[in-house]
Amino acid sequence: MSTPRVDGERLWQSLMEMAQIGATDKGGVCRLALTDLCKQSRDLFIQWCQDAGCTVTVDKMGNIFARRAGRDDSLPPVVMGSHLDTQPTGGKFDGVYGVLAGLEVIRALNDAGLETERSVEASAWTNEEGSRFAPAMVASGVFAGVFDLEYGLSRTDLSGLTMGEELKRIGYDGDVEVGGRPLKAFFEAHIEQGPILEDEGKTIGIVTDAQGQRWYEITFTGQEAHAGPTPMHSRRDALVGAARVIAEVNRVGLKHAPLACATVGLVQVHPNSRNVIPGQVFFAVDFRHPDDAVLSAMDAELRELVPQIAEEIGLQTEFEQIWYSPPVAFHPECVGAVRAAAERNGYPAREIVSGAGHDACYIARVAPTSMVFVPCKDGISHNEIEDAKPNDLAAGCQVLLEAVLQQVTLK
Ligand SMILES: [Zn+2]
Repeated sequence: MSTPRVDGERLWQSLMEMAQIGATDKGGVCRLALTDLCKQSRDLFIQWCQDAGCTVTVDKMGNIFARRAGRDDSLPPVVMGSHLDTQPTGGKFDGVYGVLAGLEVIRALNDAGLETERSVEASAWTNEEGSRFAPAMVASGVFAGVFDLEYGLSRTDLSGLTMGEELKRIGYDGDVEVGGRPLKAFFEAHIEQGPILEDEGKTIGIVTDAQGQRWYEITFTGQEAHAGPTPMHSRRDALVGAARVIAEVNRVGLKHAPLACATVGLVQVHPNSRNVIPGQVFFAVDFRHPDDAVLSAMDAELRELVPQIAEEIGLQTEFEQIWYSPPVAFHPECVGAVRAAAERNGYPAREIVSGAGHDACYIARVAPTSMVFVPCKDGISHNEIEDAKPNDLAAGCQVLLEAVLQQVTLK
């Protein structure tokens, strides 16, 4: 029996149609988790899955599972998937590629008329990005038992709305318990979000590991005062404190280069008025490294420098590590299935460590898991100019299909 082929053109058409939901003027996508646009993208995905003959369920975190039944429905399924939410200035491929690649695998199995022994599912995980609701990957985290359900549903956005309220509002507060069921394997296809595959002319990234991450929230409180009459020496400027921490965060990242990443991407200044000394600043720090020991060293440096800077300027500090995700080693058998599929098709491939967090990082705790990366233009993501080639996306989807087939016993 010949191996079924995915339809790259159909995959591309679906990606482009989905990209219209939340499309931005600059060619990107803004589809924040649990907004009306998020609901539209979910509705469309479910419609396509039902058209492909799948049974769709939604769990209490709003995770969507579209099941193509196997001969023995009692066997743990092989699951594929990623996320439909984006960053505010997101692109057309981050996340949604892995969701629609899963759907394309199901469509290709249908075209080939293949019956599988166990079920195959395409999934979409809620709020992967962590942009509207922190932390990232919260719903796959609940599925994997990293967070409890109550924690997940009570995450708030900057306006104070909870995930639970917003799931209910858009009609995605499902009734299925979150997790607690065995998966045979989980595969996530994703754009690389870095430059390595493109630089080396590779089509497929065989993802062996993922970086560990630590996220922090810091609030500095000084004193608001008039920018004119207040002498420099008597100021307690919270933004000056934050600025110094930001420079130090960058220094820590450079010190542990090339594998370390250290970023401050969110700063809120109060009262944010041009002639008022900033009295309060809230900002977030993001540290990443594939080696847990180095990540711990970076953590120690941050915990030392923040109180030092605050004391020098006379600021009060609230400091919290809101998230810790240890480095992940993906499952050798699943990694091997990805490698074998790339080799069988003659796609240029290399092993790679994921620099970003993914739903697969949490699912790896409860199921054998691996990922398939494809190149994206200039390694850019979380940006409206994010781009990927149809042929590469199709190749990654074919690898996904064959990795899945290796895990389901064909009739
Ligand atoms: Zn993503």
